Order: sequence, then C-alpha cells, then structure tokens
Amino acid sequence: MIQDIAPHQFHNEFEPREPHSNDFLLSYHGNNVLLKPDHTFFHYDEVSSSRSFTYLFRIDDTAFYLTDLTDQNTISMPFRFARSYEPKFLGFACITGWQLYRWYQENQYCGTDGTKMIRDEKERAMRCPTCGQLIYPRINPAVIVAVINDHNQILVTKYAHGPYQKYALIAGYAEIGETIEQTVIRETFEETGLHVSDLKYFKSQPWSFSSTLLFGYTCRVHGDCRLTLQKEELRLGEWKDRNEEIDSMDNASLTSEMIRMFKEGKFD
Ligand SMILES: [Zn+2]
Repeated sequence: MIQDIAPHQFHNEFEPREPHSNDFLLSYHGNNVLLKPDHTFFHYDEVSSSRSFTYLFRIDDTAFYLTDLTDQNTISMPFRFARSYEPKFLGFACITGWQLYRWYQENQYCGTDGTKMIRDEKERAMRCPTCGQLIYPRINPAVIVAVINDHNQILVTKYAHGPYQKYALIAGYAEIGETIEQTVIRETFEETGLHVSDLKYFKSQPWSFSSTLLFGYTCRVHGDCRLTLQKEELRLGEWKDRNEEIDSMDNASLTSEMIRMFKEGKFD
C-alpha cells in the first residue's frame, strides 16, 4: 500500500530543524505539485535560501519542507500522480505533504474571531494569538468494508461519480457520535440495504488525498443478499467469486489489498 515504504522509515514527530543541503522541498499550487522539469523533487541546495521553509516530517534522516517554488523553472503535475511515483517513499512524502499543505491553507484565520493564525513552535498546530485556540491537522475517519455472503462471494461496487471507474468496496465516513463498527453497519445498509454482522478489523491506511484514516473491515451478510443500491453513491453492485476477475485500482490502496486478500482466500 501507499504507506508501505520499508526499508525507509517515516518520522512524523514534530521536531523542526534547519534544512540540510540534501533535504527535499515540496511545493504545491492548487491541486498540483511543482517538480523539476525532469520530474524529480527539488533539494534544499538547489534553490535560494531567502524564502520560508516549513518543516513537515522526515523519512530516514532526510527532512521534507513546504516552500513556494513558483519562481523556479518547474513543471506542474496533479498531485495524484504521486500515487504511482518511483521511488515510492517520495510519492508517499508528496501526498502526505499535500495533506499538510491543504491544512495550512485552510486554517490561516481563527474561526472564532478571524485573527490571523500563527504556527505553533512546540507542536504541529495553528494557534490563535487572540483567543488561544489550537487547530491540529484534520484527519477524517472512514471505513472500507469487504462484505462476504453465504456463498463466499465478495460485494464489489462502482461509484456513481468521481474519477474511479474500477471496482471498489463499500466505503464511507464516520459520523459524529458513532463507533467505527457502527459506521461499517450504517454505511453498508445505506449503500446496499444489507444488514451485516461478524465484523472483523483488518488493517488501517492513511489516505492523504482526502485527509482520511481508513479502517478496513470484513463482515458477513447471512441469507438474503439482494442489493438495493443507493443510486446517488453507486451505479453498480455485484457479488464476485474468488476466481472471478476483479479489476480494482492498483496496489496503493487498502481497497486493492482487501480484494487481493479475498482472492487469496484469506477472508474465509
Ligand atoms: Zn481566535
């Protein structure tokens, strides 16, 4: 999956330091990332230091900084290209940096009194100098659900909208006041009309494209497994056997990993 960058190690502890010559620079403009014309990322020693650098995180001993490179000779790529970027740890850094870039962009002013927020120096937070409010990076919890029926078939879906036209699994955001298990049950019922049970946690995945933390679950539907699709969300829902072709996304996502696990018989 996208966060599996071993043997590299991601360090998100907030321990800002001065940039070193080989540290990487991340610069975004709208939904795009700015790269060198050869599609590689800028190093600190390749640009003038008379600009501001915001410490983001480290991978191994290399730090990543947010900065503005619009005055450089760059090419602009939709940030989603990072999903399949090689080396993989730089693609992961690029999308994780994008989540922080968006968070900084969206929290420039206090929502209570409109004061310009400042970057806290002790932790990764934006602080209002007037009322003291602290805003931490937003992470939206959501579920990915592999629903399996009595015939050991998996429920795959296709979204009604959005860029992905390949098979997906039931997915949705947690609502206030519910547990993540309740999210699984509610989302599956809303999207398909199915009542599920036997929930089992699989694993989680940070999905910076939507500032999401995904929780993967398997669950069962017993008896009647006819679907009543929520047409605004899904245009297709199908039960698939393990040996059937399922054209899912790529090896970056938890969805793809869960479909692969099903096909390998790991969810029986
Ligand atoms: Zn305030």
